[in-house]
Amino acid sequence: MIDVINLNKEFDDLKVLDNVSLKISKGEKVVIIGPSGSGKSTFLRCLNKLAVPDSGQIIFEGKDILSDEVDINEVRQEIGMVFQQFNLFNNKTVLQNIMLAPVHVRTKMLKKGLINDITKKEIKEQVMEEAFDLLEKIGLSDKADVYPVTLSGGQKQRIAIARTLAMNPKVILFDEPTSALDPEMVKEVLELIKITASKNITTIIVTHEMGFAKEIADTVIFMDEGKILEKGTPEEIFEHPKHPKLVNFLSKVL
Ligand code: ADP
Ligand code: MG
Repeated sequence: MIDVINLNKEFDDLKVLDNVSLKISKGEKVVIIGPSGSGKSTFLRCLNKLAVPDSGQIIFEGKDILSDEVDINEVRQEIGMVFQQFNLFNNKTVLQNIMLAPVHVRTKMLKKGLINDITKKEIKEQVMEEAFDLLEKIGLSDKADVYPVTLSGGQKQRIAIARTLAMNPKVILFDEPTSALDPEMVKEVLELIKITASKNITTIIVTHEMGFAKEIADTVIFMDEGKILEKGTPEEIFEHPKHPKLVNFLSKVL
């Protein structure tokens, strides 16, 4: 589904991605681990064009998303991202946060004639209904009309995940989704990610939660200094690590 070929990126002479190649199948759960500064976030950001590599290709369902002909907004509809710092719009309610992108996308499709037999008002109603459904599923329907500032970190992150799910993406990228949370809120967010991942959505997660990684991953990737140094099943990576740097990393985090 995704074929990353020889991705390279430098920031001021620092090689942040060094010839990274990776194939990801539809529905695969990939967990990326590695020390701070190893290029994990940059790699994820390249996958939905929040960062642009200096060279290489990212083939998503047969199209190179880095080519100028591909509409960046369409890529981001299909490849959603959840950030460490939630990135909710603080001046919008929870419901508005979830509704914003789907309403925008469907209204644009209506204008282009890609959908019809529906009015702008009906689009809003439809999206609102779906947003309420999502809020119900994550147990936060009572928060629909509040502003994010009134929520706990765990609740904010669950809303951010719901907002991404509202787009019906084919792929979700999670960049350290629990790193900014107080310890008691980590579990509720990991539980929601587990449910999300079980839906056959291709999922790529950067995390320091090794127990969670073991549980959820089909494939674990170890990155260091912009390179993928090792790739394998959770069993291979955690029980039989080969690369000395991986062995050293695991001795610090496990
Ligand atoms: P990780 O997510 O593994 O901690 P990052 O991808 O965030 O690593 O960063 C890799 C390296 O690139 C780090 O040294 C970081 O300081 C640098 N870096 C990341 N983003 C930028 C940027 N926008 N400008 C300059 N340097 C950056
Ligand atoms: Mg990072």
